[in-house]
Amino acid sequence: MGRLSGKRAIVTGAGSGIGRASARLFAHEGAQVVAVDRAEDAVDETAALIRKEGGTVSSVAADVSDETAVKAFVEHCIAEYGGLDVLYANAGISGGLVPLQEQTVGYWQEILAINLIGPFLAIKYASPHMIRQGHGSIICTASVAGLRANAGGTPYSASKAGVVSLVQTTANEFYGTGVRVNAICPGLIETGMTKPIFDGARARGSEDRIGQLNPLKRYGLPPEIAQAALFLASDDASYVNGQAIAVDGGLSSTHPFAG
Ligand code: NAD
Repeated sequence: MGRLSGKRAIVTGAGSGIGRASARLFAHEGAQVVAVDRAEDAVDETAALIRKEGGTVSSVAADVSDETAVKAFVEHCIAEYGGLDVLYANAGISGGLVPLQEQTVGYWQEILAINLIGPFLAIKYASPHMIRQGHGSIICTASVAGLRANAGGTPYSASKAGVVSLVQTTANEFYGTGVRVNAICPGLIETGMTKPIFDGARARGSEDRIGQLNPLKRYGLPPEIAQAALFLASDDASYVNGQAIAVDGGLSSTHPFAG
């Protein structure tokens, strides 16, 4: 028996990085998974990997900031698997490092729409099913950049601080429903999002300097975040609610520029 046997889970941003690792781990632990990403080929590739590993998965190409599409992928999970127990709202974009005076309203709106309104919409449409059945686990990917001052990327950090507030407030709003709501705050993880940092460092021959400020003296890998998501998704976390849990090797506890 896997730790998620019998559970139905949606994972967004499942075409790459943390989302792909989490979808694979959830399926490996027995969940029936709906893998969602706006990159259709990438999410289909994730689904193919999961099937090859013996898991049960259905892939959906959708934009998490599109309300109609979010409602549809939640309904797809209910229709396909007969319910929904775990929502992992993980999809996000970084927006890069743009000096504040050069940032436009459109730049802010795009980041907030995906990173903050995306999780809100997924919670809005997933939670009624969970509340009706009296249990459910909602997980959002925030960031250590939402907990501590970050070196640049203002709208990204603001969006992730918003996600921390979203989960804390929602956990309280869902008082007495049995639905838990938590956030994971990753530190620097090697994924598609951080590829430019890693590519740049490798080109300079300075890869070993990435992560040097971290108490573990290294950066993190997607499966290390997926393990935290698995814990929060599972009944092992039955008394963990309204938390923003840093999974960052200790970076946010030691360095002001945590992101
Ligand atoms: P990634 O780029 O490897 O994966 C993100 C996935 O989300 C991609 O497949 C992308 O296509 C998808 N996506 C982006 N916008 C979308 C949208 N509007 N609708 C649907 N899918 C969309 O990056 P990652 O590092 O795995 O990012 C996952 C989450 O982790 C993000 O929320 C990110 O902010 C957060 N995070 C990452 C790090 C890190 O160091 N990598 C650190 C802290 C937080």
